Amino acid sequence: MMHFDSSIRLFDQAKRLMPGGVSSPVRAISPYPFYTARAIGPYLWDCDGNRFIDYCLAYGPMILGHRHPAIREAVSDQMDRGWLYGTPSELEVRLAERVSSLYPSMERLRFVSSGTEATMAAIRVARGSTGRDMIIKIEGGFHGAHDSVLVKAGSGATTLGIPDSRGVPRDATKNTIQVPYNDPAALEEVLERFSGRIACLIMEPVLGNIGPILPDKGYLQTARRLTEKNDVLLIFDEVITGFRLSLGGAQELFGIKPDLTTLGKIIGGGFPIGVFGGRADLMDQVAPGGAIYQAGTYNGSPASLAAGLATLDVMEKEDTINKLNRSGESMRLALKDMVEDLGQDWSVVGIASMFKVFFGPEPHNYAQALRCDRQGYFEFFRRMLDSGIFLTPSQYETDFISAAHNQDVIETTLEAFRSCLKS
Ligand SMILES: *Cc1c(COP(=O)(O)O)cnc(C)c1O
Repeated sequence: MMHFDSSIRLFDQAKRLMPGGVSSPVRAISPYPFYTARAIGPYLWDCDGNRFIDYCLAYGPMILGHRHPAIREAVSDQMDRGWLYGTPSELEVRLAERVSSLYPSMERLRFVSSGTEATMAAIRVARGSTGRDMIIKIEGGFHGAHDSVLVKAGSGATTLGIPDSRGVPRDATKNTIQVPYNDPAALEEVLERFSGRIACLIMEPVLGNIGPILPDKGYLQTARRLTEKNDVLLIFDEVITGFRLSLGGAQELFGIKPDLTTLGKIIGGGFPIGVFGGRADLMDQVAPGGAIYQAGTYNGSPASLAAGLATLDVMEKEDTINKLNRSGESMRLALKDMVEDLGQDWSVVGIASMFKVFFGPEPHNYAQALRCDRQGYFEFFRRMLDSGIFLTPSQYETDFISAAHNQDVIETTLEAFRSCLKS
């Protein structure tokens, strides 16, 4: 039986100091979160000495596992040379080259400090370059915590966007229209109805923040065709899928060329980062070359760039991503067998090194995902945690596998799944 005494004590203190006791809402695991003391490879240790196999992996960035020696060395070497210059550095040229060659659609790009900043800037580029204010997003798609994308789901295309957070002015969301994922007809209808007024469609190619939910066959191709036909820019938010589905992201895997792309998470190797980029004619309108403003003290932060470059080195040299994707595939197959044997109406979904057990049939959009048994999932999550497996606490967050999750670790995990799914 695990004890959580130190975590409970820390959380009691934290609740008096920080809203909900946490620095970001997903971390407020009921009735108390565990407090991590250290992390290596596939493991987290909390401050009570419990060890967990980690499938949350900081919600995506830690694709090589924790404290990878190559990243540690690259960042530590960078520390010897200083960590913030306020001038350009060679690192940004090297990483920009690498990213741009893996993502040929990103002819120009800029490094920022988070995925939120990246999507905010990409949307600004779309609006600034087209001179239009309206944007389309996918219901249940997540693009960070800024005003124009914090729109209540379900309001759909019939009403203009309603804020999903207090403190977001209606004026900030009234130009955001939502359409259901995997519904080309709804997209086409909106593109035609608001013809000439829409700057862009921003979408996660695979929905990673309520799923994963995969695109139906041909859906992404249709979205590309329809946006092009209606002269609307397509932004792929690949903050999760970038360097995860393949090194060239979802756009490489599905063969789609978006106008603008946002990256983050993995490309910072665990350090804060975001990237936005795309067509040269659009990106050249960004300041100082053009009139679309974007700036940041920590843009192109050397530690993040060094960690990103080291991550790419490991992923490329050791065929890491293909091995990882094969582990993902075999894990999903094993889980599917298990779920089938239990004869429940559950599903196992995912792609590459992403997976999730849905307590319900496989969803194809946000409305269907909402029908899953969230409470049942959460009880299952707690049982897994007590067995030493840290899955993402919400039914709607994706579980990730890292390159550090070897066959033994995965076998141990599958054993826990077997016994926890049964009860
Ligand atoms: C995590 C995420 C973001 C936000 O990135 P932050 O670095 O947390 O600001 C944006 N888009 C997607 C698809 C994400 O998964």
